[in-house]
Amino acid sequence: MVNRKELNNYCHDYLNVVAFEDYGPNGLQVEGVENINKIVSGVSANLALIERAIDEKADAIFVHHGIFWKNEGQTITGSKRRKVSLLLSHNINLFGYHLPLDAHPEIGNNVQLGKRLGIQNMTPVSDSLIWQGELNTNLSDFSALIEERLGRTPQVFGKKSEKIQRIAWCTGAAQGFITDAIELSVDLYLSGEVSEQTPAAAEENNMTFISAGHHATERLGIQALCSHLSETFQMQHQYIDVENSV
Ligand SMILES: [Zn+2]
Repeated sequence: MVNRKELNNYCHDYLNVVAFEDYGPNGLQVEGVENINKIVSGVSANLALIERAIDEKADAIFVHHGIFWKNEGQTITGSKRRKVSLLLSHNINLFGYHLPLDAHPEIGNNVQLGKRLGIQNMTPVSDSLIWQGELNTNLSDFSALIEERLGRTPQVFGKKSEKIQRIAWCTGAAQGFITDAIELSVDLYLSGEVSEQTPAAAEENNMTFISAGHHATERLGIQALCSHLSETFQMQHQYIDVENSV
């Protein structure tokens, strides 16, 4: 069991929250019960996850995508009201960690995805949110591996390279960072989503692009963070996957 404030402070330091300029608040987003015994983790704080956490009698929910974003309205109406109201009436804390969770060198989404896909010599690219590393494979084997390890068929665009040796990647909706990957002259850039212009950018720069799923590429960081927290503070932890095909 841990005190809410202690847990919030611990995560603030562990995830180096101050180093990031983000689209939403990182840390405690909705305050609930003071002493935390049981935590639930999930990718996004949607209504389905909150309802499942209530069923599990969780004291806190940890997510990668919280419920407050800079580009959204500043009112608590509609489905946001329903979510906040459920959290408050059940005394459940909501913690959200966005960019700090992508970037963390041990439990982060990028490093965890790299490990899951067998990428070697992983390093973050400076002045960028993307990572780079090495593989010794070919496109058909690597696509099959992604399907097996992430449970989702990847979409493959651009050059269909036989050999894949140098790879760059960034989880989530980071298809726009393909320009950073082009600068690195890698064989393949992988992200969670794809935009209309991404296939041409890959093709024209002689590179393969893989869209492996926003949700599918961002399931690992929050689970790794919460496993770490449950060990550190002797709390129960349960990951809940709310199916999302994007
Ligand atoms: Zn995301």
